[in-house]
Amino acid sequence: MRSTMQEAPLLVREILRHGAQVHGRSEVVTFEGDGFRRATFAEVAERAAKLANGLTGLGVRSGDRVGTFCFNHQEHVEAYLAVPSMGAVLHTLNVRLFPEQLRYVIDHAGDKVVICDAAVAGLLARVVGECPSVERIVVVGEGDTSPLEGLEGVGDLIAYDDLIRDQPGSHDWPDLDERDAAAMCYTSGTTGNPKGVAYSHRSTYLHSLASTSSATLGISSSDRVLVVVPQFHANAWGIPYSAWLSGADLIMPKQFLQAEPLVKIIEAERPTFAGAVPTIWNDVLRYAETHGSDLSSFRGIVCGGSAVPRSLMERFQELYDVPIVQAWGMTETSPLGAVAVPPRGVDDDEAWSYRTKAGRVVFGIEVRVVDGEGNPAPHDGRSVGEFEVRGPWVTACYQGDPSPDRFHDGWLRTGDVGTVDELGYLTITDRTKDVIKTGGEWISSVELENVLMGHPAVFEAAVVAIPDERWDERPLACVVLKEGVSATLEELAGFLADRVAKWWVPERWSFVGEVPKTSVGKFDKKVLRAEFAKGELKVVALPKGS
Ligand code: ADP
Repeated sequence: MRSTMQEAPLLVREILRHGAQVHGRSEVVTFEGDGFRRATFAEVAERAAKLANGLTGLGVRSGDRVGTFCFNHQEHVEAYLAVPSMGAVLHTLNVRLFPEQLRYVIDHAGDKVVICDAAVAGLLARVVGECPSVERIVVVGEGDTSPLEGLEGVGDLIAYDDLIRDQPGSHDWPDLDERDAAAMCYTSGTTGNPKGVAYSHRSTYLHSLASTSSATLGISSSDRVLVVVPQFHANAWGIPYSAWLSGADLIMPKQFLQAEPLVKIIEAERPTFAGAVPTIWNDVLRYAETHGSDLSSFRGIVCGGSAVPRSLMERFQELYDVPIVQAWGMTETSPLGAVAVPPRGVDDDEAWSYRTKAGRVVFGIEVRVVDGEGNPAPHDGRSVGEFEVRGPWVTACYQGDPSPDRFHDGWLRTGDVGTVDELGYLTITDRTKDVIKTGGEWISSVELENVLMGHPAVFEAAVVAIPDERWDERPLACVVLKEGVSATLEELAGFLADRVAKWWVPERWSFVGEVPKTSVGKFDKKVLRAEFAKGELKVVALPKGS
């Protein structure tokens, strides 16, 4: 028997419509370095319509890709809403990609128009001349755009405000197939070329709803959300759409992502919620602690993208009574996959044991653990294997690149290794490419880093595998000490030995000025391994038998 229900396609257009009609008074606030720029959702929606009209005037048609090379700001939100709703495909470009990768992704996606911040015009100019698909460039904001001028095949630059100025303030948003692509994002391609994920309208709609659930981020009209995670990093984890549909204010920091301006924004705008990777919160905390800043406006902070150190969560809780909620996801999963909200009925201590896991699988996502032979293992919190996931906002392949090795019987292979318990909580011990195999056993680099970062003298720590004649591989700990404090090797090793298995404790250590980071702010262990291989790291060893 068929249902009696109406067929309403799940479109980004509906997210736009609802936010504009019902939450027209909510606002998008953009930090400009020396002050804030504000616009209501009603104004942003009108400008989104003008943008769609302007882009149509530039020849953008259904299915065409529109790239954005932008930080987080109002115009980027307008593009998020307008481009998919008009039937084109939003392709968010990572402003921190190496030129070669940037050229590759623009070319691979076939971007026709690129909306570019004037502040990063020079970065785009280095590659766009070699991207034949790009016909026009639209420039947002002020800055030196001369490197982009006069490039062959690209035509005259158009200022964003000029593009929309005389356009009608409404657009006839088309009916679309909900399975059509709405947006594209490339993984950062730590090995080989980046891989493209094309989100559908349907996946975006469902994913946007998921983040409003109290089992996940609980974004609601009571919130003012500071979106620190870049809009080019897995669609800022989908937060702009969730905020828009629920009427939460959006506070956008533009390129001002250092601790000092972020704290300034937090104290001035008093956001209730925010999302960013752990390295950002670590920097913010260090700054706030030394400047006596007030971060207490948050009801919560979502943090993920890499393991969140327990010490970071504890400090935020102690100093500001702000819970940092850990989440797990990937570009391939839109990205929301698991959120570490503790189960009901647990005491404080037990709650911490859940909060420090990667997360509890969210409704809509199914997860399994697969052993070395490709067989599903029990969800008992003990059986270790690679996580595989599936669900309506998980990619089924890569754009123009089937990569069969990344999929398994309709499941996405995540490349993350760990356990799932009876309640659906994921514990990640490593990424497959970062695991340390020593004498046939695995050591969790994530666990070692987490414990080390709990030492009062340690600011950051990354642990990588290095070759070892006897054991095959051993861990190398690369440690950044806090300013003005010291700790000896023996002290750090002893601290570890009290908390992890003795054979996990690294013999070799390197004190570094900074842990190298990827384009989205994660520890770049590949760089550390390469530096070690080239003899560029100053390595010290614990005396034998200590
Ligand atoms: P990239 O592969 O460029 O890092 P993603 O941002 O898509 O791009 O990264 C997804 C990966 O980030 C996951 O597969 C996982 O390894 C890691 N990750 C995300 N959240 C967490 C978390 N809470 N704990 C540990 N690792 C995480």
